[in-house]
Amino acid sequence: MYIEIYLGDVSWGGLSMVKCPFCGSEVNVAPIKEWRFRFYIVNAYICPSCKGRFNYYHGVSSRGKESSFTIRVKPRPKRIAAEG
Ligand SMILES: [Zn+2]
Repeated sequence: MYIEIYLGDVSWGGLSMVKCPFCGSEVNVAPIKEWRFRFYIVNAYICPSCKGRFNYYHGVSSRGKESSFTIRVKPRPKRIAAEG
């Protein structure tokens, strides 16, 4: 018997683990936002531990190299008044 297990969109070469660049804890909540930047898919996260906000870039470049990195947006926002 053949059982097919489909895991959906978690096949980024095992790179589905996102770590908070502020406190280093694993962030396993859904991104608050998602958009595209060149060949990257960008996910905006708010860390549930320290409330730090960062963008997680991941994608495959035109050379076929897979890369992912995080960019800090706001260290510890006191209040999220407006986007941007
Ligand atoms: Zn954090």
